[in-house]
Amino acid sequence: MPKNASQRNVNQPQEEAITASHITSFGVGWKKTIANVQENIVAKKTVEEDLQERLLQQAVVTELGIKALVGTDLQRLMNEVVLKLKDILKVEYTKVLELLPDGKALVLRAGAGWKKNIVINKSTVPTERNSQAGYTLLSKRPVIVKDLPNEKRFNGPPLLRNHGVLSGMSCIIYGKNKPYGILGVHTTSYREFTKYDVNFIQAVANVLAAAIQRKHDEEARKESGALFRQLAETIPHIVYQFNRKGSIEYMNKKWFEYTGASQANPNTLESYYAFIHPDDLQKVLPIWKQARKKGESYEVEYRLKRHDGIYRWHISRSSPIKNKKDNIMHWFGTVTDIDDRKRAEKNLRYLAEASKVLSSSLDVKATFDNIAKFAVPEIADCCSIDILNEKGSLDQVAVVHKDPKKMKWAKILHEKYPPDMNAPYGISRVLRTGKPEFYPSVPDALLLKIAKDKRQYTLLRKIGCTSSIIVPLFREGKCVGGITFSINDSMRQYTESDVKMAQELSARASLAIDNAWLYKGSQDAIDLRDNFISVASHELKTPVTSIKIFTQILQHHAERIGDEKTKKHLEKMDRQLNKLNELILDLLNVSKFQSGRMEFKRAVFNVDASIQDLVGVLQAGETKHKLIIKGETNKKVYADEDRIGQVLSNLIANAIKYSPKADKVLIHLSSDDKNVYICVEDFGIGMAQEHMSKIFNRFYRVFDKTDKTFPGLGLGLYISSEIVKRHHGKLWVESTVGKGSRFYFSLPLNTEDPTN
Ligand code: ADP
Repeated sequence: MPKNASQRNVNQPQEEAITASHITSFGVGWKKTIANVQENIVAKKTVEEDLQERLLQQAVVTELGIKALVGTDLQRLMNEVVLKLKDILKVEYTKVLELLPDGKALVLRAGAGWKKNIVINKSTVPTERNSQAGYTLLSKRPVIVKDLPNEKRFNGPPLLRNHGVLSGMSCIIYGKNKPYGILGVHTTSYREFTKYDVNFIQAVANVLAAAIQRKHDEEARKESGALFRQLAETIPHIVYQFNRKGSIEYMNKKWFEYTGASQANPNTLESYYAFIHPDDLQKVLPIWKQARKKGESYEVEYRLKRHDGIYRWHISRSSPIKNKKDNIMHWFGTVTDIDDRKRAEKNLRYLAEASKVLSSSLDVKATFDNIAKFAVPEIADCCSIDILNEKGSLDQVAVVHKDPKKMKWAKILHEKYPPDMNAPYGISRVLRTGKPEFYPSVPDALLLKIAKDKRQYTLLRKIGCTSSIIVPLFREGKCVGGITFSINDSMRQYTESDVKMAQELSARASLAIDNAWLYKGSQDAIDLRDNFISVASHELKTPVTSIKIFTQILQHHAERIGDEKTKKHLEKMDRQLNKLNELILDLLNVSKFQSGRMEFKRAVFNVDASIQDLVGVLQAGETKHKLIIKGETNKKVYADEDRIGQVLSNLIANAIKYSPKADKVLIHLSSDDKNVYICVEDFGIGMAQEHMSKIFNRFYRVFDKTDKTFPGLGLGLYISSEIVKRHHGKLWVESTVGKGSRFYFSLPLNTEDPTN
């Protein structure tokens, strides 16, 4: 309460300014109260008056608080504060000082009553003990001054001294981390401020502090918003924000660059969907719906339409932005182009699969077909393979189109319009350069250029091609053809990464085709050999048989006339003819097996008796090795006795041949419920493990130092194994180098035996 009411400096015009322009409707009510209370102060001063005054102060605090709350401009609020304080506390000077960042001074932000040379935002007072304000900051509580000239706690600053200030009151306007500044009131007359006055000024300072903080927060928000925009504009992704109702609030620059959309597009989520590939939208919508329902972040991949109509794969990540009450206010998201990554992944997968397919066949035609089939529709809508023929033109060795009708047209096109080998584009150029040709887009103008006439142009248009890659195929390092991949889809286009994949595929395909060709070459050679064997063995058989007959006639003749010398020569000749005959028979057998012409005359025979007979015959012609039969089968089998005899003869002949230092060969006989077992054991050179499975192949011979001395064609075991196989038996070997071998064969106790 002022001591002397008559000294109060009521500044009428200023009061007018405040009440007229700033007080809210709520404040208008209080205006009347203020006016009433003022009247009372002048009339009498009672306890009631004190109460009224405090009420008035509270009303002012409330009024200012509301203004701070509704976001009144800070400077305006400060101006009101200083005027209100001046008015309510009946003081000459009021001020809002802000502590400067260096902490050395406080600058005047708002003030009332001061001389004209005191300028808002310019005039300062020092800190620490050089001013009342500085001292207030130091003491950290409101400071009341009764008699400034005699003040001991601090020095009265020029600002106050020049204005003849005697009393005053100041308090801190608190900030978030450090004080914002000081709120002060001063009088030129002695005045005692009550604790209610102190509470009042502190309450007003607190209102100011809240308003200042709010302004700072707002600025920080604006700053971070601006920072976000700046960031969003620079990153190479699409950034968007939409509100919970689905209205687009923000799309960054990248969006407009990528889609070529106008500024207003999209303005809703629905209009955004129009840029998503229709096939993917079906997948996106449920994910989005679910995320929206749960209020959770989500991630989804889809193809997004580029300005040129091409769709590229993107990954979209979106998160909700919630307010303090946990309500979703916005959705924020990024959309990242993953098309190249996706393609690379797909291409790698394709290559891995393609390698498997390529290695699955050694047939040239099948390999070509596999390549083309495998590419469609994964990599291409149409894939064709062209290979140079002996005439120097191109054969279309494979063509696959995802639309079978168009495949027919593609074939017609090739037949009627074979590629011009001198053309400066397409497969012809690939053949000349050995490098790929890449057409990211195939405009109509190019088709017109390629087409020789209207029909070809129509066919080209019908087959359709919007993007194409042709990669070379090599054989033994020479470019011999090419694979053409093409897409017929205005929404897709090949990229460099597809070219790389196609090149890699062509490298693998070249290898596979090389192998297939090599294999075909060796197969052709084998076929040629087999043909030769078949023809030669047939052609040799007849003359050798007649030579043998004539040799025998001559042998009889020499015997009759007693020409011993000639007889011996003829006997030797006959033995060699027998060997030659055996060879011819072997060759004949081989070609019979090859062509499937080998016939068997099956009958039931006694195994033990048959073997004893045969061994007896063989022993008669063998002087060095004793052929010893061990055990017996006691079984009959249903088989071709002659052919089984042939097997046993082969094995015994080998046993004798490959055991030159031994003097016996054992023939073991045994049986069980299912089979009879015959084993020929020798004590000869034996063989290493690695040969054991191969010796049953055609023409396989073990070549080592010792073996070179043994004659043979490598056919005996092949023929034997074929015979045993056809009898549903088994032939196998156990052997140790330098110790000898055991050749076993089994024959099933055949139920086919009609007599059983
Ligand atoms: P050939 O004896 O006419 O060469 P075979 O088909 O009968 O043809 O035998 C194939 C190969 O198996 C022979 O070259 C030989 O190296 C090996 N072989 C066959 N029988 C024996 C055996 N009893 N002991 C050692 N090696 C053998």
